[in-house]
Amino acid sequence: MNNDYHRSFLEASEKVIGANSAPASFQLHKDTLPSFVEDKCSVERFKMALQRSIENLDEELGRFEKQFSNRHNAIFWAADYNDVFSSLKKLFKTHKVKSVRLPNVNSSTIFRELGIKYFLRDEHIDLAEDGEMQFFVADMMFSDTGSLLILNQSNSGFDRLSNSKINVFFTTIDRIVGNSDWAEFYQQLCSYRNGCGNQDMVLFKGSGNCNNYLFLIDNQRTNVLQHKSLRQSLICLQCGRCNDVCPVFQTIGEEPYNNVFAGPVANITLPYLETFESYKHVAYACTLCGCCEEVCPISLPIRDMIVDSRQTLIACDQLEKGDKRRLAALRKFTSSRAKMNVSSFFKRHMLLKFVSAEYRKTHRVVPFASESFNKSYKKIIENDQRKGV
Ligand code: SF4
Ligand code: SF4
Repeated sequence: MNNDYHRSFLEASEKVIGANSAPASFQLHKDTLPSFVEDKCSVERFKMALQRSIENLDEELGRFEKQFSNRHNAIFWAADYNDVFSSLKKLFKTHKVKSVRLPNVNSSTIFRELGIKYFLRDEHIDLAEDGEMQFFVADMMFSDTGSLLILNQSNSGFDRLSNSKINVFFTTIDRIVGNSDWAEFYQQLCSYRNGCGNQDMVLFKGSGNCNNYLFLIDNQRTNVLQHKSLRQSLICLQCGRCNDVCPVFQTIGEEPYNNVFAGPVANITLPYLETFESYKHVAYACTLCGCCEEVCPISLPIRDMIVDSRQTLIACDQLEKGDKRRLAALRKFTSSRAKMNVSSFFKRHMLLKFVSAEYRKTHRVVPFASESFNKSYKKIIENDQRKGV
């Protein structure tokens, strides 16, 4: 584990836990954020559709593959970036490609995750606006029609999609939903990602006139999938709202994560997408304040997943039976908002019951702030409302 990163997380977390009121940078609340989808019923239905797809991922991907390949498009299943790169090398060779057009790499998580720019540089492939091969990020797959949703390309990018002879699409296995009727709704939900503006979108089905290849990348998503309680994190829309209100993320920023993924959802997924040894500490970069859940358009239970993840990580460290019992009780206690809002004296009293005497000999029991973050956050909102802000 990188100790510098670990230290900066601990320092930031202590700073936030000890804060009596929220720093200005995260005094954001629901009403100050744009309300882009008011239809709660549709949001709930969309969330259920995403969950269903994740629960039946093998079937959904099979259905998608059948429809997509029936139109003479090719799919490469890639376990990790090595698989992607070896297949790409073959494609370059087959089509004698010397230049590629990439969309904005910095705004494409998947390209940054793969390190595609470095791969192309090492392969001596030029980046050019009129490259012989066009790369695209597919934001979502629809298994009913075998189509791809592509967001946020400039109009010229879409023109190229229809004119180009070789198109290569990249997506991860968790970006799938069963019904393409959700395309526009998904586009609206994701609009926050790019400064709340509407994004252009195209539903791509492909045709036999050109070569269309899709890379379906796992890159350890199946590790997350194996943990039933954490699976829901895979339906995250990556809209970034939670990052903007998370007190820990706003304090420490992206740098300590040293990864493409950073923020509340990364706190859940990174130990599984990378390794426990390198990333288990991120599960503690959270004060369980709940701000992220309040702004999440699909109300992901982020706190529950973070607590579950902590338990799994601790269990992997082979805890004694007694410690496991105490931790389960501690979890129940800290999951109750009412209990966490009681006086700091009472919380400390309860905490000492959960922490073994043996542990206390070598570790300091962190004091609670006089008021919970949840309470002071509510006061800020009430004050703002009184002032009519
Ligand atoms: S509950 Fe959410 S917003 Fe609060 S610290 Fe944890 S991840 Fe950040
Ligand atoms: S957890 Fe919710 S708010 Fe955060 S990025 Fe995912 S969908 Fe957006």
